[in-house]
Amino acid sequence: MKHIIIATKNQGKAKEFKEFFAEKSIEALSLLDLDQAIPDVEETGSTFEENAALKAEQIAALLNIPVLADDSGLIIDALGGRPGLFSARYAGEPKDDKANINKVLAELEDVPVVKRTARFICVLAIAVPGRETTFRTGYCEGRITDSEKGENGFGYDPIFIADGYGVTMAELDPQEKNRISHRRNAIIQLEKWIHTL
Ligand code: IMP
Repeated sequence: MKHIIIATKNQGKAKEFKEFFAEKSIEALSLLDLDQAIPDVEETGSTFEENAALKAEQIAALLNIPVLADDSGLIIDALGGRPGLFSARYAGEPKDDKANINKVLAELEDVPVVKRTARFICVLAIAVPGRETTFRTGYCEGRITDSEKGENGFGYDPIFIADGYGVTMAELDPQEKNRISHRRNAIIQLEKWIHTL
């Protein structure tokens, strides 16, 4: 059986990746499944690609097996692409989803509905020892609401409505969100690459 490590301590993310790889007869283990403690990798890159590659390559070098890492965020057109790379800590330390949402809503206060376009991005980096790192990118297009709604999901889900939907991501059931998410769209693009693992 082939193995890959998913560089995450997030159960929800790990589950999504595990299901995809299991269909390909590859066992995916998250950092939570390892006996060995893996030190946090600092995300010092200036792009999503750099940050995902930093995580994947450092852990692959440590364990000497293939590692997949992701980096994701929210890109809002009216804010020139912010919060972007800084999505997790947009309102500062410590990381606070609610404060991030309030900051975005305040910044968009005078922006009309048609100009509130945004997208979630997910970049995957797969580091295989001895090979060049592979990248895949997925998006989920939508717009930012003017107030938060819904209890599901995390991050900016309560203020993001995906194209074709009338409710926020936080109002969708988790399976529906996973079907249309930026992460899923990036994972789908691994389909052809997977046979080279
Ligand atoms: P990470 O790279 O997956 O840790 O994501 C960075 C930040 O982007 C998160 O802390 C969230 O603020 C935001 N984000 C990423 N994916 C999602 C999502 O699916 N829904 C809502 N917010 C997200």
